[in-house]
Amino acid sequence: LRSSEAQAATMLEVLEEGVMLVDLSGRPVQANAAAHRITGLTDLREFPNVFDPAWKLMDPAGFPLPTGAYPAVQALRTGVTVRDTQVLFTRPDGEWIIASLNAIPLLEGGQQAGAVVSFTDVTASYLLQRQLEAQALHDPLTGLPNRRQVTTLLKQLCGERPPPPTAVMILTLHNFPNLLDRIGRQGADRLIQLVAQRLEDAVSDRGVAAHLTEHEFLLLLTRPGPPEPAGPELLSGPESLVGPESPGETDRSDDPAGQWAAQLLDRLNGTFDLDGQAVHVTFRLGYALHPEDGRTPAELLRHADLALKHTGHSPAARRFEPVMAADVERRLRLEECLQRAVATGTLSVHYQPVMAVPQREIRSLEALLRWQDPVLGTVSPAEFIPVAESSGLINDLGTFVLREALCQAVRWNARRRAPLSVNVNVSVTQFSSGTFPDVVRDALHRTGADPRWLTLEVTEAVAAQDLPSVTRQLHALKALGARIALDDFGTGYSSLALLSQLPIDFLKLDRLLVQGVHLDPRRQVLLRSVVHLGLELGFVVVAEGVELPEELSFVQACGCAHVQGFLLARPQSPQQLNLNAPHH
Ligand code: C2E
Ligand code: CA
Ligand code: CA
Repeated sequence: LRSSEAQAATMLEVLEEGVMLVDLSGRPVQANAAAHRITGLTDLREFPNVFDPAWKLMDPAGFPLPTGAYPAVQALRTGVTVRDTQVLFTRPDGEWIIASLNAIPLLEGGQQAGAVVSFTDVTASYLLQRQLEAQALHDPLTGLPNRRQVTTLLKQLCGERPPPPTAVMILTLHNFPNLLDRIGRQGADRLIQLVAQRLEDAVSDRGVAAHLTEHEFLLLLTRPGPPEPAGPELLSGPESLVGPESPGETDRSDDPAGQWAAQLLDRLNGTFDLDGQAVHVTFRLGYALHPEDGRTPAELLRHADLALKHTGHSPAARRFEPVMAADVERRLRLEECLQRAVATGTLSVHYQPVMAVPQREIRSLEALLRWQDPVLGTVSPAEFIPVAESSGLINDLGTFVLREALCQAVRWNARRRAPLSVNVNVSVTQFSSGTFPDVVRDALHRTGADPRWLTLEVTEAVAAQDLPSVTRQLHALKALGARIALDDFGTGYSSLALLSQLPIDFLKLDRLLVQGVHLDPRRQVLLRSVVHLGLELGFVVVAEGVELPEELSFVQACGCAHVQGFLLARPQSPQQLNLNAPHH
């Protein structure tokens, strides 16, 4: 027996785990080496009785535990085993550890005789766990709560009864990609940190500011009160809440949350000092009020986002309005109908002649999509092309127009000495996969059209895409034998650099440059210069949207060789155009 006791004692001594034996009165009677090491108590006599508050055990968050909650006390009092309880223990040297404790009642002859308390130091893994949790809920760059945490918070708010009036605001840094180009990643990080600080100050104890994506923040304000009359401070008292207290209020423009948001933007829009470099930035903000503008977190976020989109490009704050959701609805309906139209072939292509002046001979025909929907009526391409672009339908649509137009060219040119070419509009998104030249090659092959009969019209928007990729594709199209027109020139950025970069044959001047030009001497200078520039660069210059004889004479005098517009011909169906007549 004695030898087995000795063996047990040896085993205890080599254990990594601290083990302490207490008798029925809670007095420690034995402790192994690990117990001394972990607690920092060198002598058995230093171990207090387990009922003694001198242990000063706390829960891991640092709240003192009553002795009744000590695991050993529980095991002694109730006779049940307590497992894996984490406590904070302060060692005699002042250092604290997190220990994981087990307390097992000791029985002798069926009678409770004491308890065995075993424990390990889990401080490192505890801290790591906390750090991981904090990282999961906080954005490491700004230290602000992240999307996950703030949506949890919003869920809680929406679940409260009665719901506390809350404003959900999405704030975004305008034109971030451009800014990033200018100040670089490091500068942008620093800027985001500064913005985060200002937001935290502004929101203070009225709510939280969270960091959503790199240039987007979410503010949850539980008490959007009126602005402070004096001083620049944004904070205000608890009075004048927005919410169910004022259900009859319909004035949406001038709610306290809106005033608060406007003030916030006033403070944010302007110059930030990035370690000596002055950077001018503007912000936009969209918000929705709970519960008037939405009742669920998802709805509130969606509506705030919609309001944000409706700020356009102005550095302003906007509240959600139901009509914004209606816009989205119409878009969705449009998308649905368009999908059907593509599938059932209720789209057609009309052609508008591009004439050489002064002979007034048709040189080419621009293919323009027409959609007559049984439900929606006539829908303008200006409305459905953007929908097709954002929904991805534009690729199918583009391929359809391309084949249709090439087929038409084959028909027109069958018995013609001087061939007509067709102009097909190409949307930037059709370049995004990088395989557009293959699509064109395939369409040429299927229709048997001569590549020289095809001109592809692109706009300056291609510059916003991956320009090297677009340029490469345009060169590939030229290599096939097709020609390229730069469309709508004079409306967007009118980038001169782009003119020298892209392999352009035609420069099409937008009708905004052309219309009414005969009445305005300054625009005459502008138009004349642009035409000369185009000619100098070796392009054929085409004036679009010519409606009046005065406009025609002016553009002709400037040197435009080609003209397109209602004055000469409207877009028409192939039947109306009747170009197959034998005299051509
Ligand atoms: P766009 O490429 O600038 O096409 C010229 C637009 O100007 C056409 O409008 C045409 O009907 C209109 N137009 C022509 N002459 C005159 C004129 O003298 N006065 C006025 N006020 N307007 C004139 P439409 O057909 O409504 O097309 C609008 C836009 O939709 C087109 O502008 C083009 O960007 C886009 N689009 C049309 N078809 C297609 C297509 O098949 N693919 C792509 N990606 N876009 C297309
Ligand atoms: Ca065009
Ligand atoms: Ca155009």
